[in-house]
Amino acid sequence: MLSQINRDWKDIPWDCALRTATPTVATVLEKALAGDDLGFEEGLALATVEGQDLVALVRVADELRRREVGDRITYVVNRNLNFTNVCIVGCAFCGFSRNADAPDAYFHSIETLVAKSVEAVERGATEVCIQGGLPKDLDGYFYAQLLRAIKSQLPALHVHAYSPMEITYGVDKTRLPLRDYMFMLKDAGLNSIPGTAAEILDDSVRKSLSPNKLKVRQWINVIRTAHNIGIPSTSTMMYGHTEFPEHWVRHILLVREIQKDTAGFTEFVPLGFIHPETRLFRSGAARAGHSIHEDLIVHALARVLLHGYIPNIQVSWVKMGFEMSLECLQAGANDFSGTLMEESISKSAGATFGESVTPGELRAMIRTIGRIPAERSTTYKILKVFEHSDPQEHVPAGRLPLFGGTADHAGLNAIGY
Ligand code: SF4
Repeated sequence: MLSQINRDWKDIPWDCALRTATPTVATVLEKALAGDDLGFEEGLALATVEGQDLVALVRVADELRRREVGDRITYVVNRNLNFTNVCIVGCAFCGFSRNADAPDAYFHSIETLVAKSVEAVERGATEVCIQGGLPKDLDGYFYAQLLRAIKSQLPALHVHAYSPMEITYGVDKTRLPLRDYMFMLKDAGLNSIPGTAAEILDDSVRKSLSPNKLKVRQWINVIRTAHNIGIPSTSTMMYGHTEFPEHWVRHILLVREIQKDTAGFTEFVPLGFIHPETRLFRSGAARAGHSIHEDLIVHALARVLLHGYIPNIQVSWVKMGFEMSLECLQAGANDFSGTLMEESISKSAGATFGESVTPGELRAMIRTIGRIPAERSTTYKILKVFEHSDPQEHVPAGRLPLFGGTADHAGLNAIGY
């Protein structure tokens, strides 16, 4: 594990780290630093690094981050709206979904969701992020109705909503062509979509995770259609379950190929698998979530493979916690995600890192690693740079217990995606 190899790894200049790497890894990283695209074998060499090669990878990834986006760490003030946990899909990695007759099943009304959006704006949010389960009897036009209701009250609010799985479900329900359905959502106020439901973009892995979920070609089709009609998206990858490093590399390279054509991805977000409350883990099919080693490699690998194509690599604090997020923000990542205000999906799977963080807490944590906080829009327009600290800034009590000390990485590893 990295901190055990060299406790001062973050102070090692990238060129010094490069000199101590094995020749194969050093050659690949030098090629990345020269601005050349890496291929599958080169990516795989990086995805399996250990020891001094791992130090070289994360230091070079951090240098590429500095060259590409500078020293700011961005965040968005947003609110998550997980409008229902009722779902018929049955993904084995999901601890969130419920049957319709479960005692804790819920479906928020449109009025409730509009009220939550209004409250979010009053608390400074510029975005709501809307995703939910797929209930059997969902009206295929519900997604558009919800957009119209929110936009009628809050026309300036950015609505980031509906995964490719939800959009595919809406298409199935309405029998509209995909492109027409997405134009309808855009006309109703959809500003961007989350590139979730990607998990690992490999059908053999997806079959073991969720045989009922959309196939790789369907995910690509939704994403390309969105980008082609002017709806940007994020891109994500879930790691730490049944996949191998080769799947990370193929997944990231596939995202890069789409980006070369469409330029529609705003960011790449590695999402560590949170295992405790999932059927996938309890059945023995998956490992116990993402490790520290994987967290560092995946974020650094994404920076190196996507360099020149997707400038923003986001950490998910709700999956990794704040301490590990700050480590990854020094290993190639540059975006701290959002305030969320409420979060149900990861918490239901067993995550314990909280559901909300204030902008002041994010800024305070960013300053602890010597970087500059900046609030951004969903599409990475810089809204405000915070050059100096302010009274709202304080490190969240009890949620960064090990910062500045010796990280109990074994303990962190027990708390997965
Ligand atoms: S991950 Fe989404 S689609 Fe899969 S079971 Fe959970 S809520 Fe349903």
